[in-house]
Formats: sequence, structure tokens, C-alpha cells
Amino acid sequence: MKYRAPRGTRDILPDESWKWQRVESVFRETAARFGYSEIRTPVFEETELFARGIGDSTDIVRKEMYTFADRKGRSLTLRPEGTAGVVRAYVEHALGRGGRVTKLFYFCPMFRYERPQAGRYRQFWQWGLESLGSLSPVVDAEIIHFSVSLFARLGIRGTEARVNSAGCRECTPAYNALLKERLAVRLPEFCEDCRARFERNPRRMFDCKNEACLTVLKDAPSILGSLCDGCRRHFERVQAYLARMSVPFRVDTSLARGLDYYTKTVFEVHYHGLGAQSALCGGGRYDQLVEDAGGDPTPACGVSSGVERLIAALESEGALPEAQPGPAVVVVTMGDEASLAGAALAAALRERAAVEMDYQDRSIKAQLRDAARLGARVAVIVGADEVARGEAVVKDMASGEQRSLPVGEVVGEVARLLAA
Ligand code: AMP
Repeated sequence: MKYRAPRGTRDILPDESWKWQRVESVFRETAARFGYSEIRTPVFEETELFARGIGDSTDIVRKEMYTFADRKGRSLTLRPEGTAGVVRAYVEHALGRGGRVTKLFYFCPMFRYERPQAGRYRQFWQWGLESLGSLSPVVDAEIIHFSVSLFARLGIRGTEARVNSAGCRECTPAYNALLKERLAVRLPEFCEDCRARFERNPRRMFDCKNEACLTVLKDAPSILGSLCDGCRRHFERVQAYLARMSVPFRVDTSLARGLDYYTKTVFEVHYHGLGAQSALCGGGRYDQLVEDAGGDPTPACGVSSGVERLIAALESEGALPEAQPGPAVVVVTMGDEASLAGAALAAALRERAAVEMDYQDRSIKAQLRDAARLGARVAVIVGADEVARGEAVVKDMASGEQRSLPVGEVVGEVARLLAA
């Protein structure tokens, strides 16, 4: 074979794509219930948008962007995350005109130049929500509730929401200074990456995956002690809303999201069945980003989540059927004339149900075996005798009972069996 999918990418074949469809359809339904509408932004944007929006001390911007020059020499980047493009579109189209709140969702591929490993790809998928235009902590709570409720609707039990505050521009300088002061003496215990993070932005040390670093960080001061009055009040209200909405959560002061734009609330929803990488989604408030992207000052809050990881969680939880649900009806035929009659029946039945038929002139026995393997509830059988009599046999696959009926009555009988 000459060609292969590029390193870090993969094909989602039919034996898997049905799982994706299920996740996407439950996600879309849940988004509709919470009043979010879809936005589809371009796969690539000007590089500058991501470099400035995501923050140049982040791993994404420093080493993971798929950046290229187009034929006119413009620097473009395949989107590594969803928020920057949504914010760009929000500003470009003045979606917040008249001070209204804009609630958007996306479900699309992202691109990061990462070392491929289990569950890590260079093209992967995320779903996400962005709610722009409100400072109210009820928005933060609603987005956390959405995430927990989506996972529950998909059949994942025992998720846990963890919340923290990232502070704002007013309170973070003091916290950063405190962190540096406390961690300076322990710097030799940190990995090289963390030592570099210490210089650039000590908060990013919390992103480290290294157990040794995380252990030292357990002794680091909590940000909650450094919050300004506004941030502290907001965080209390988010918790009050979550409690009243019956969303289970816990405050986790070591929680720091890997992006620079978060202010106030940050959160993740974890699932124990995934091992160390247990976050199913993460998000928070980003009250400065819209203004930084050239828009009017607009508070906002969002969440994003990797779909590959979500599907892995569904599999480990046994929340998906073993196989894709098969067709409800299989039309079985023998011979050219029967094939014509069978195709006509399949065409009529497809107005009501999923129907499969044979395309390879196989024996009736082989076709019926297939019908059973696919889990069909009804088989409609047309052989030479049935053609001669203008009839077809309708077989209930579960009970094995079968009846020969005039062709004109087949659709009604199949519908009756499927409804039973
Ligand atoms: P982040 O935007 O880095 O917070 O990532 C959000 C989620 O996207 C993660 O929790 C992962 O589930 C998923 N994700 C990030 N990078 C990748 C990747 N390279 N391959 C697959 N999933 C990813």
C-alpha cells in the first residue's frame, strides 16, 4: 500500500463511526435543551489570533500549532482549540449587538502537532460551548451542569465536577508573586519544563503531568487566599448555584487550566475510569478575551471536551451497545424476478424502517443467517414460488413464525410486527 493516513491522524470507520454519531446526537439534543445554537467557524485562522488569544506561554502556542504560509505568504494555523475562532466570529459579526447574551456550541476537529500516543492525535475532535455577554455566575453553573448532564445522558456514571477560581487581572499578580516566593526554594525539585514555566508564568506549573512536580505543588499556596472581593463573591455564587441545581462538585485549588485566558471560574469534570488522564472536559470564564480580540468588553464562559476520550470513557463504562444497531428488516430474495419484487418491497419499507437486502445472489440460507447476525427483527422472503403467486413471506425473527401474504399487505404486516 502506497499511502497511509498521516502520522497522528486516523480514519473513523463504520464499526466506530456510529459511536461518534451517538455522542454527537446526544450532544446536539442537550445543547438544544440548554438553548445553545451551533456555530461553524473555519478550520484555519490567522496565526496571530491563536498566538495572542491562547497565550504564548502555553504548550499549544509554543510547540503544537500547525502553522503554514499560504501562497501569498500569509501565516495561517489550523485551529488547535475552539474558543479563539468563536470569539473572532462573535466580534466580526457583532453577535452581541444590543447587549444580548449569545450561546454557541461547536462539534468539530482540532489540530495539534503533538507526539502521537494512546488517545493523543494530531487531528482530534472536540465539542464545546461558549456563552458570551453575561457576568452572572449562573452562566458558569449552567455550563458545568450541561457537562455533567451530557455525560449522564450518555450513560457515564460517577463523574465529578471540580471547580476553582483563576482570579482576574486584579488579583493574579499578587498570587503569582506569592507562588514565586514560596516555590523559589523548591525549584531544584521541579522538572526542566517547570523551571522554565516558573520564569514565564508560575501558574502554568500546575499543568505539569509529572508526579514529582505535582507532589511539590501540593504545598503551594492556594489561589483562593489571594482572590479580590469580586472574584471571591463570584466563586461563592457559582458554588451556591451548583448546590441549588443539585450538581455534585468539589473545590480543587490545584486546578489550573492549560490556557492563559481564563479568569474567575475554572472547572473540569472527571471520570474515574480513565486513569491519570481523567478529565472529560474543562473550561471556565474568560472575561478579557473578547476585548483582547478587538471587541467591546464582554464577559464570557465556555467549556470544551475531547470526543476521543469521551468515547473511550463510554466504552470503559459499557455505556455503548456491543455493535451498531442493525437494520430492522432484511429482504431476502432468490432469482432475478424475486430480486425485482424484493427491491420494490425494500423501497416501500424504507419509508418506515431501516432495510437491508442482498446484492450478491447468495443462497436464501446465507441471507437469513445474515439477517440473524445483523439482529433484524423481520425478514421478508421472496422466492420463485412467491413471485408466481404475487406474495411474500413475512418472518418474525424472534419467534420464528412466518406467514405468506399478498405483496400489497407486506408493508402493513411488517409495520405491525415492528410496532409490537
Ligand atoms: P485542552 O484544550 O488542552 O484543555 O484539551 C481539552 C481536551 O481535548 C482534553 O481533555 C482531551 O480530551 C482533548 N485533547 C487535547 N489534545 C488532544 C489530542 N492531541 N488528541 C486527542 N484529544 C486531545
